Amino acid sequence: MGDPPVGSHLVNSAGPGPESGVVVAIDGTSGSGKSSTSRGVARRLGLRYLDTGAMYRAVTWWMLRHGVDVHDPEAVAARCEEPRIESGTDPEGPTISVDGADVAVEIRGDDVNAAVSPVSAVPRVRSRMQVMQRQTIEDALRTGGIVVEGRDIGSVVWPDAPVKVYLSADAAARAHRRALEEGGSDVEATRESLLARDRIDSGRAVSPLVLAEGAVHVDTTDLTLDQAIDTIVAMVESLSSGVSAP
Ligand code: C5P
Repeated sequence: MGDPPVGSHLVNSAGPGPESGVVVAIDGTSGSGKSSTSRGVARRLGLRYLDTGAMYRAVTWWMLRHGVDVHDPEAVAARCEEPRIESGTDPEGPTISVDGADVAVEIRGDDVNAAVSPVSAVPRVRSRMQVMQRQTIEDALRTGGIVVEGRDIGSVVWPDAPVKVYLSADAAARAHRRALEEGGSDVEATRESLLARDRIDSGRAVSPLVLAEGAVHVDTTDLTLDQAIDTIVAMVESLSSGVSAP
């Protein structure tokens, strides 16, 4: 017998079957602290971690690289099966590659920031990404479970997740954090870029950013990173103890 799978003390969220893990769905607006919080929760609980935003960014990067007009939904749809996207789910060092090349830095550029929301609004792009995301979740369920962050995880990708969180923060706090992450870029320009993405992400026809049914809203404006992580870890731990987190 080998070691028990990581996170195996957590509840079986998947019903009967070989899986024995938990899915923690963390959705929310750009810059709400989703990535740092989600990674922190995964590390703390020994779970895998999937950044679905990085997948949409990777497709967008590929479209730009191949000269596809990102504002032409038909052109984007026609080519969206082509890039081979791979996500590494170790929370200590998540990876993202396109056609075998590491694109972790490239997908954070201003060109991708400006193009990712229109590309993500194309239904065929979403359905392809969602199939890949569900496959990653199913794989992770065999080894304890996964924290998945995005916009539509609790509403569309994995609506049965036993822990669903909607993270938000006020726009000034988000812009300030994101500008710091990006090495001191202009806070006002960052704020405009975040709000422009929020508008498209919340207003699109397919899987818009919404507060999923059963999701707990956590406002991180006045929380430290550790406090946000503690809040979600307590929700997950309350599943196995049967006690509701405060
Ligand atoms: O999370 P992040 O800000 O990196 O996501 C970049 C963009 O990817 C979002 O603004 C949104 O347009 C898209 N996205 C999405 N659905 C997800 C995750 C991200 O549409 N599940």
